[in-house]
Amino acid sequence: MIQFWNKRVKEGILTENTALDKELEAIKRKIKENVKKKFAGSLAIRMVDSGSCNACEAECNALSNPYYDLERLGIYFVASPRHADVMLLSGLMTFNMTPHVLEAYKQMPEPKWVITLGACPVMEAPFEKTFAVKAPAADHLPVAHHIPGCPPEPLEIIKGILDFLKKI
Ligand code: SF4
Repeated sequence: MIQFWNKRVKEGILTENTALDKELEAIKRKIKENVKKKFAGSLAIRMVDSGSCNACEAECNALSNPYYDLERLGIYFVASPRHADVMLLSGLMTFNMTPHVLEAYKQMPEPKWVITLGACPVMEAPFEKTFAVKAPAADHLPVAHHIPGCPPEPLEIIKGILDFLKKI
């Protein structure tokens, strides 16, 4: 038993990733500062799935868990485009979804921004261009920023949001 505790003291708890914790803390601090400065402390995101496999959405769900906890930084996922500052767009811009994406964008109040998420909206996912695929999204919308990955991990998404905030 004593050996176990000696090892624990020396190595720490192996499921913890202190390097990641520190990196995330620094990113969170910068995001909070930027949201406060550029969005008066509250940034509303409307996530729109334009025909995705749902893995991008699953990664975004993790942003609400107690570890990433985006809401504590002033970033909220909202249910209506009418309340949104930013559209976070995933998926391929399918033939069926494109009119709904455009309608959602139209309903967002000015000023508004579009961030594309994952390989699909920029047509980098391995899908063939057919009549049913309207990607890239930039052909239809003014895309302010892109977060790459298939799917991007929560840390990549959070970094992408910070890059967007620095850019505008
Ligand atoms: S980018 Fe990849 S993970 Fe995201 S919706 Fe497309 S295929 Fe799925």
